[in-house]
Amino acid sequence: MERTNAWKTYDEEKLSAVEAVSKRYRAFLDAGKTERECVREAVRLAEARGFVPMNSVTSARPGDRLYVNWMGKAMLLFIVGERPLTEGANIVGAHIDSPRMDIKQNPLYEENGIAYLDTHYYGGIKKYQWVTLPLALHGVVAKVDGTVLDISIGEKEDDPVLGVSDLLIHLAQEQLDKKANVVIEGEQLNLIVGGRPDPDADEKEKEPVKKAIRKLLEEQYGFEEEDFLSAELEVVPAGRARDFGLDRSMIIGYGHDDRVCAYASLEALFNQSEVPEHTCVCLLSDKEEIGSVGATGMQARYFENAMAELMALTGDYSELKLRRALAACRMLSCDVSAGFDPNFASVFEKKNAAFLGKGVCFNKFTGSRGKSGSNDANAEFIARLRNIFDADGVNFQTAELGKVDVGGGGTIAYICALYGMEVIDSGVPVLSMHAPWEIINKDDLYEAVRAYTVFMRQ
Ligand code: MN
Ligand code: MN
Repeated sequence: MERTNAWKTYDEEKLSAVEAVSKRYRAFLDAGKTERECVREAVRLAEARGFVPMNSVTSARPGDRLYVNWMGKAMLLFIVGERPLTEGANIVGAHIDSPRMDIKQNPLYEENGIAYLDTHYYGGIKKYQWVTLPLALHGVVAKVDGTVLDISIGEKEDDPVLGVSDLLIHLAQEQLDKKANVVIEGEQLNLIVGGRPDPDADEKEKEPVKKAIRKLLEEQYGFEEEDFLSAELEVVPAGRARDFGLDRSMIIGYGHDDRVCAYASLEALFNQSEVPEHTCVCLLSDKEEIGSVGATGMQARYFENAMAELMALTGDYSELKLRRALAACRMLSCDVSAGFDPNFASVFEKKNAAFLGKGVCFNKFTGSRGKSGSNDANAEFIARLRNIFDADGVNFQTAELGKVDVGGGGTIAYICALYGMEVIDSGVPVLSMHAPWEIINKDDLYEAVRAYTVFMRQ
């Protein structure tokens, strides 16, 4: 009897900790629907915990908390450790970009009394999932005078929302015979933004609805049609992340891939209350969904450069020491795993699948068809991690991304491994990955935070 009560007490304690982190995570998801918004929120959370911009200091000592805001789209956070950087840092890294639709540079047009914005999707999406949903517009418009407008339309209770139409079932016989990848094609992802002609338009006006939208953009949002040329506007599902399931065991939200690991990484860093032995790094990167390209993608050198800057701040920089430091790092490449879905069991191999609720998942390798494009973590490194996680009772599982010949995917792991550091993929299992609304289990988020926290402490 006593024992039962003891278990119950433990469970309730754990449950309230799970609920607490889930609540904080949902708030992070709601605040960060684009990579820029995620950086802004991460900066806010970090500054509240004593982190300062790395370029605002002239030296760094153990215990110092520094961050680099890279172009507003990627971010690095550091807690300086006791040991020299040449002994390596403990890194947790995730990406904060998510699949979506981007507004094209010349987007606005009118067709038969409906005004549209033309889009080009970003990352791997099933296009048919993005129609008939309330959608929001987030991003920035950079004007020629140097001002940058922040745009967020569709999240507040009384905001309008936007969307893409689908063909009515009554006339869809031909459409339904098509393959799913062409049921809705990329050029059909046209966002409806208006349907009322400008009252001042005369009968000769060919695009009276577009005219009204142009006026509205100027008056309500402060930019002109031409300014779309230098804008980054992302079309994302409108609305908040919600508890999912009658038992509230899960969370449905936009952008779990990979903001769930990004958030777990941030919390893990914030959990380091003492001066760490080794420098702790949290790395939030952009452009993972399109190959980690560009100046804010992981293939750019901002991480390496920030390490060099940090070494210089500690008074211990040389090119050779930097190379040694990078090679000596240990890293968890934190990215979501494919959660086993009983509805689609045939694509998984059950012995090596990630199950929702069974803890944070480790992937020795990713890639596809013979591990192509994969990082393949060293057995010795995995053994060390097993030791660390077993000692702290972290609930973890291991998995591959589906059956051997079915498909695959990649992460940022192989890019960091280029420096010669130990890297393994690790993350939270997701259902409906890359869909507008993805699902995770709260327990897995909780275990991810625990795993990343003890990993940084090693
Ligand atoms: Mn991902
Ligand atoms: Mn992805």
